[in-house]
Amino acid sequence: MPFTIHGLPVSQGIAIGHVHLVSHAMLEVNHYHVASKYLPEEMDRLDEAVATVQGELIGLKAAATAGQSHSEVGAFVDLQLMMLSDPMLVDAARELIEARRCNAEWALVQQMEHVVEQFEQIEDPYLRERKADVVQVVERLVKVLLGHPGHLPPKRRDGLGTIVVAHDLSPADTIGFRDHNIGGFVTDVGGPTSHTAIVARSLRIPAVVGLHHIRQLVEEDELLIIDGTRGVVIVGPDEHIVEEYRLRRTELEVERSKLNRLKDTRATTLDGENVNLLANIEGPKDLNQVKAVNADGVGLYRTEFLFIGRDALPDEEEQYEAYRAVLKSMPGKPVTIRTFDVGADKALNGVGARFEPNPALGLRAIRYSLAEPQMFKTQLRALLRASAHGQLQIMIPMLAHAHEIDQTLTLIEKAKVELRAERVKFDERLAVGGMIEVPAAALALGMFIRRLSFLSIGTNDLIQYTLAIDRSDEAVVHLYDPLHPAVLKLISGTIQAGARFGLPVSVCGEMAGDPVYTLLLLGMGLRNFSMHPGNILEIKQQVLRADVGELAPRVQRILKMDEQSKIREAVLRLAG
Ligand code: PEP
Ligand code: MG
Repeated sequence: MPFTIHGLPVSQGIAIGHVHLVSHAMLEVNHYHVASKYLPEEMDRLDEAVATVQGELIGLKAAATAGQSHSEVGAFVDLQLMMLSDPMLVDAARELIEARRCNAEWALVQQMEHVVEQFEQIEDPYLRERKADVVQVVERLVKVLLGHPGHLPPKRRDGLGTIVVAHDLSPADTIGFRDHNIGGFVTDVGGPTSHTAIVARSLRIPAVVGLHHIRQLVEEDELLIIDGTRGVVIVGPDEHIVEEYRLRRTELEVERSKLNRLKDTRATTLDGENVNLLANIEGPKDLNQVKAVNADGVGLYRTEFLFIGRDALPDEEEQYEAYRAVLKSMPGKPVTIRTFDVGADKALNGVGARFEPNPALGLRAIRYSLAEPQMFKTQLRALLRASAHGQLQIMIPMLAHAHEIDQTLTLIEKAKVELRAERVKFDERLAVGGMIEVPAAALALGMFIRRLSFLSIGTNDLIQYTLAIDRSDEAVVHLYDPLHPAVLKLISGTIQAGARFGLPVSVCGEMAGDPVYTLLLLGMGLRNFSMHPGNILEIKQQVLRADVGELAPRVQRILKMDEQSKIREAVLRLAG
């Protein structure tokens, strides 16, 4: 019997395909007993994995010593190498294989849990945190044992895609789907503005999250339909239901193609105000989509996707090539490249990763960059070099303090001095702007306005930090409200301050690409919207129907309201 489950719609479209269950964590491994005659082989598997990981770590250390990587890497690698040869870990796992006939992965994870427990008893907080390194070493070993990354299923013959069903997926996992035939994904946890959801939208993979126990309700290979627009998942649909959804999928495609006629129309309101509709991208692979909708430029290039989901960091040359490719394909149009926003849910692999009690409030974005000045300067050099090839602007994420800007500007100056000495060309007048995504920044704009050339409001984080809710936690997703009066005050205050001081302001969070908020933002005075390229034509349609002269006073009245339900009603009426 087919049945339906409801979750949060995070990436539009309909996918029909077969379930592929993915373990929610690398360490949720299979448990099985190995037949006695295969025990020597199981030991060899473990020994080979240890040798591979040793090789990986030695390689990382060599890169760090050569100055290509960040400074603390050497120390972390040494620590992890030491753990690899500690009898408490690998030797003890070997004993478990022999005595209890556990498979290698299971033996390692059991032993890891035992060691972590011992670390937890340690008084010294630094040593106690080293349990994170034990976990990482075991993660590396398990990854090798599972033959990572080749465990996604091959393309199916019946023309249907694969639907990944997981407890949770990281943005790096999702990026990995790009090269596989993944039709859609569903997860137990997650929220609509989590980075995993943003990546899904950028890859145009329909997705529903926050389904709680979906992994227990479906079986490997079972037929599944995802309606990423309505947040519905149908398990085991019959032929009629499949046909109905095929039809709906075609209708959606027709609607989309109708919007295509707006591609070359300038986004101008009824009363003649020009609006810039820019694209958010994760890398050069997204450029085709940007061109398909003729975006006015790139308003946010999230460069961290070049850094996550891999073991070695990209060097200056690799970064330069990626940034240059984007600039080259956008001649005469502005390209805003954000310095890497790693940390929180976009953690780097292995070494350098730290145990953090509260990652969203920890060493993330500009804080991480300034803590790793060598790695940061490498990116700044690559950006400066790329600036010779187009209209590049640098954007700094998650600013809260003026000294974060001052330190960044000093590093940029250092990179410029080096490049001048090397006779390398770059744009001497390159603009540097910053993101307003922490309430403290939105409330103390003067120090940002004095130092920067433009501002961009990251509503995803601004909402997260204003309302104190984790944007990737589905348990609090109902509290994530862009129309909370406090959020609206911070957004409109930033737009107004920009106008007063002649500083361009854009919105590059998910709000900019959601048609529900277009008229509200236009009425606040916003003229630069940056969003996933797939949303640009729909937002253009809204802009073409808007009269900002008429909207502005109505929006001013909304900004005086302090009841969320009244605000919501009034915002919906703006379109009427
Ligand atoms: C934001 O916070 O709104 C934003 C655009 O940045 P990110 O989603 O990458 O955190
Ligand atoms: Mg952000």
